[in-house]
Amino acid sequence: MIKIGPAAIGGAKQAEENLNFIKKNNLKAAEVSFTRGIYLKKPDAIRIGKIAKTLKIDLSVHAPYYINLNSKEKHKVIQSKQRIMISCELGHYLKAKYIVFHPGYYGKDSIEETYEKIKQEIINLNDTRKEHNLKPKLAPETTGKINVFGDLDQTLDLVKQTKCSFCIDFAHLKARNLGKLDLKEIIKKIKKFKHVHCHYSGINYGPKGEKNHIPINKKETTELLKALKKINCTIICEAPDTYGDSIKMNKILEKI
Ligand SMILES: [Zn+2]
Repeated sequence: MIKIGPAAIGGAKQAEENLNFIKKNNLKAAEVSFTRGIYLKKPDAIRIGKIAKTLKIDLSVHAPYYINLNSKEKHKVIQSKQRIMISCELGHYLKAKYIVFHPGYYGKDSIEETYEKIKQEIINLNDTRKEHNLKPKLAPETTGKINVFGDLDQTLDLVKQTKCSFCIDFAHLKARNLGKLDLKEIIKKIKKFKHVHCHYSGINYGPKGEKNHIPINKKETTELLKALKKINCTIICEAPDTYGDSIKMNKILEKI
């Protein structure tokens, strides 16, 4: 079962109309984007969560971009964790399943040091989440730049060791691997999960990995959807025209 949806629901005032549009186009998911700031208040989050539930649209949340769990500056780590927890609290009111975030940077640390620090912070965040009875799962995302923490194996190790969830971004993995996306290998690694939260779009990349997201392409999208067919997953479309390309993806899916 594959559910597809856009990476934005709009502001508090537009959300209802957008969710109805999503439903009308037979899309079954949407991500609430707090990437440039947490813009919803509790009453709106509760209201939007109820509308989404009635329309059977699965919501997830993308936490702000300004997160670095491996910063050498202590206050930056504290602020990063606050941003994740506030996203998680609002996600709870939205009845979202996942809180997606980019975990952090290497800075001058080794791969191992970075991994350890991020691991400890996620364990700590997960404890706080449970103390407050917040339902959404923490989902560190695979990142697109080679010199940024977050390839698939690191992310899956975090899942194993911290019991967090994850978000696999196929465009980012392609950029990290300079255009190569070994779907068979990836499926082998993720097929054991009951549900997988995914991001997808076209991607421009250079020698350092990700440059920017671009529209989806039919051939590549068909290959991806075919490969994911047996996986219970949600795919959030992060192309620049997130609504238009979500609908295109859904049409491709209907023909497979
Ligand atoms: Zn993404």
